[in-house]
Amino acid sequence: MAISKELLDILVCPLCKTPVKPTPAGDGLKCDTCRRVYPIRGDIPVMLIDESRVEQEDREPATQS
Ligand SMILES: [Zn+2]
Repeated sequence: MAISKELLDILVCPLCKTPVKPTPAGDGLKCDTCRRVYPIRGDIPVMLIDESRVEQEDREPATQS
């Protein structure tokens, strides 16, 4: 695990301030609220909206107001 628990605890999505979680592959940090995934480059999380990608999950309908 390249990213420490302490660091994960303070990392939040810059867009909606939701705490992010590591992806199963461990190559990114995901925000469950806006479904953006922020890349991890060289063990450094890139918490930039411009660098993020949005995961498409069409299994559940959008419930955001
Ligand atoms: Zn977010």
